[in-house]
Amino acid sequence: GRGGAMGFGKSKARMLDQDQNKVTFADVAGCDEAKEEVEEMVDFLKDPAKYQKLGGKVPRGALMVGPPGTGKTLLARAIAGEAKVPFFTISGSDFVEMFVGVGASRVRDMFEQAKKHAPCIIFIDEIDAVGRSRGAGLGGGNDEREQTLNQLLVEMDGFEGHEGIIVIAATNRSDVLDKALLRPGRFDRQVVVGLPDVRGREQILNVHLKKVPAADDVKIKYIAQGTPGFSGADLANLVNEAALFAARYNKRLVSMVDLEKAKDKLIMGAERRSMVMDEKEKKMTAYHEAGHAIVGRLVPEHDPVYKVSIMPRGRALGVTMFLPERDQYSASKRKLDSMISSLYGGRIAEELIFGWEQVSTGASNDIERATELARNMVTKWGLSQRLGPLAYSEEEGEIFLGRSVTQHKSVAEETSHTIDEEIRSIIDRNYERAETILKENEDILHAMADALMKYETIDKYQIDDLMERKPVREPKGWED
Ligand code: ADP
Repeated sequence: GRGGAMGFGKSKARMLDQDQNKVTFADVAGCDEAKEEVEEMVDFLKDPAKYQKLGGKVPRGALMVGPPGTGKTLLARAIAGEAKVPFFTISGSDFVEMFVGVGASRVRDMFEQAKKHAPCIIFIDEIDAVGRSRGAGLGGGNDEREQTLNQLLVEMDGFEGHEGIIVIAATNRSDVLDKALLRPGRFDRQVVVGLPDVRGREQILNVHLKKVPAADDVKIKYIAQGTPGFSGADLANLVNEAALFAARYNKRLVSMVDLEKAKDKLIMGAERRSMVMDEKEKKMTAYHEAGHAIVGRLVPEHDPVYKVSIMPRGRALGVTMFLPERDQYSASKRKLDSMISSLYGGRIAEELIFGWEQVSTGASNDIERATELARNMVTKWGLSQRLGPLAYSEEEGEIFLGRSVTQHKSVAEETSHTIDEEIRSIIDRNYERAETILKENEDILHAMADALMKYETIDKYQIDDLMERKPVREPKGWED
């Protein structure tokens, strides 16, 4: 909702002041990790000077990444609401106008306004509209968009931090963004806001059902179980529709039938939009993620697998979380091999269970990452005995006026052939190892996929149980 906002002359940004914005963290449900990650921003905004004196690292910009309707705007508003500071919002598409220079001047205006009202939050929705990587794409650069993006970078670099302005941008794809936006001091931290799992959906339904008079027969858990793939916005909509059904029949309370009817209506509407994850897709994803997790647990020196989920996050269908996710700057050869094996675990599990003909495209990102690792092992990190500890640089194709310029190769044809062979052999070796592991532990694979179908997200302790072939304990907060 954007009610009660007032527009600003040139900037098109809208400001909600502290009295108009009543959103708090209690209104945002089912994304506890994201909430934790933004908590320090509240501390900072409450008193920027004091925060800095106490030695806190000043947060400047954050990127919220996730599918539409998952609560990115809501969470950003909650930060402002908790800190009791003004909230400026603008959409990336508002910056992009027909006339060159308008977007850039809107950015300037917005920052000027924000400085007058600091501490505050600037929220840029759909940052991809301005923030796509420059020079890429057909037809070359778009002057207007690039000028706007450049102005945004200039503004973000221009403030020191003690002003107390935090810029939060939202997108559902961070991979298309210009790398310049992600540099330190800009949108240098990412907060992932994924689709909620079954418990998250229950919590979100709870928040929205508090706003309507609900009958005693309402079993929120059942509605949550029947709505995989629903975002927070879809769930808010569901409750709203149910209230409308109840009103149509002059009922005083919203009861289970109303919620069921609303659910069916939305699912039918959604199937056309292919939003709801169907049972088959869910099952495929469950085996895929279980495959990653099991291999990850059984190869040496692998980062601990602490969470597996089949709820989509950003572009990936499911996700298997390894700790630590970042910071792989120095890793042993053994560890790198293990990473490659676990990356292939998903694809292998799909093939093992559903057969080669059914294998999905779900592994494309895994394959890319595994290939990249193997390539780096051979060409950068000197981890191929045949090629020795040398760096073989193949200059990256530069993009010039939207077209990719011919690559300069600095390695001989024959060496290049050996590089390919070495990459291939690293991959084959690790693929085979993963395959053996999954064949030997097919019973665990089935059990883990079943648990994922039931819980959608499983935690470290549940994974421990599964790996020890014990009955899976119920996760925290999972009771009737
Ligand atoms: P996004 O910015 O990710 O597209 P929004 O924050 O605009 O999504 O969500 C739209 C509406 O959906 C919110 O105003 C709220 O009513 C509901 N909603 C979305 N996510 C959540 C959530 N995690 N908890 C509670 N309500 C939510």
